[in-house]
Amino acid sequence: MNIHEYQAKQLFKEFAIPAPQGAVATTPEQAQQAAQSLSTPAWVVKAQIHAGARGKAGGVKVARTLDEVKDYSAAMLGTRLVTHQTDAAGLPVNSVWVEEASAISQEYYLSLLLDRESERLIFIASAAGGMDIEAVAAETPEKIVRVPVHPAAGLQPYQCRQVAAALGLGKEQQSQLQTIMNGLYQLFLAKDASQIEINPLIQTDDGKLVALDGKINFDDNAIPLHPDIAAMRDASQEDAKEAEAKQFDLNYITLDGNIGCMVNGAGLAMATMDMVKLKGGAPANFLDVGGGTNKDKVKAAFKLILSDGTTKAVLVNIFGGIVKCDVIAAGILAAVEEMHLTIPVVVRLEGTNVEQGLAMLKDSGLGLYAAEDLNSAAEQAVKLAEGVA
Ligand code: ADP
Ligand code: MG
Repeated sequence: MNIHEYQAKQLFKEFAIPAPQGAVATTPEQAQQAAQSLSTPAWVVKAQIHAGARGKAGGVKVARTLDEVKDYSAAMLGTRLVTHQTDAAGLPVNSVWVEEASAISQEYYLSLLLDRESERLIFIASAAGGMDIEAVAAETPEKIVRVPVHPAAGLQPYQCRQVAAALGLGKEQQSQLQTIMNGLYQLFLAKDASQIEINPLIQTDDGKLVALDGKINFDDNAIPLHPDIAAMRDASQEDAKEAEAKQFDLNYITLDGNIGCMVNGAGLAMATMDMVKLKGGAPANFLDVGGGTNKDKVKAAFKLILSDGTTKAVLVNIFGGIVKCDVIAAGILAAVEEMHLTIPVVVRLEGTNVEQGLAMLKDSGLGLYAAEDLNSAAEQAVKLAEGVA
């Protein structure tokens, strides 16, 4: 789960990581009032969306007067912001964060994330901050320092000095960095984060290190343990279909192809998508309906797959191990009938009660395509999507 920058900055404060004073607003008037309550010569108005690269997309504006705060907020609120980290539709700007403008002398990059290879939390830092870290990693990897933390020993002072040296910090800033790194490490563990990124971490003209931006991802599996984090969820920033899928306990991810895939088991779903690709098609989604699926789930899955009108064919690939094939067949028939489906559906069933399941599909008279194996199922679905068969 992701949260907004202003929420990340609240958490930063809790863990002694310095961040600019500010307030969140949902109307231009509120934004102006918020600005008035901050004693600062200038403000920065920042669109709150679950994506970065807002600065280059017009989602971060320096305001010199209260009227400018209002104008910039009015221009952002109620729009959708497209950045190179969002899709072409962008994300809705329902709130802005108004904060004091900082006098920046230097921008750094600092993040903490789980490195699955070393099986440790790892700090990543660079003196080339404020930029796309992926670009820094690709073009000048020597400018990035990585410091893994041993889980039993915890974060050690020498490791903070190591990062400070890589960033070229002075003595005074070194101890500030240690406080920030300790805060990040504590925050990460306490809230079950999966990634925390400060880009940029700045040094101000008067030598203070401040987190000017904040992005935090949390481990979805741990959210039930943290009601305070769960309360920060903003569904408006999430893919509507993925959110609906969650309600039915379906594992769903939107993709940009046109063949809807309904599969049980994540591994089989991946293999099915690979097979569709191999046959020259493109999957519209990843969907794992789970091991113990039922008729309602199958129906909900069909609705999701068909909801945006881009799907040209559906490929159902179910292995009836825990779930029985006749139950799946009943779900498919109910969905197809109820939704007056007009696009072709290719079904590949295998496993327990497969004969009954296939017979039900055949006898339904709904014109479903029953495939013998995954190879021919994928081939058929791709052809049907192209309108060839
Ligand atoms: P994003 O990463 O989404 O583009 P940031 O919060 O990193 O958004 O802001 C982009 C840039 O805007 C920063 O690198 C910094 O140069 C500038 N900026 C952001 N907040 C402030 C602030 N409070 N004071 C001065 N400059 C800021
Ligand atoms: Mg940033």
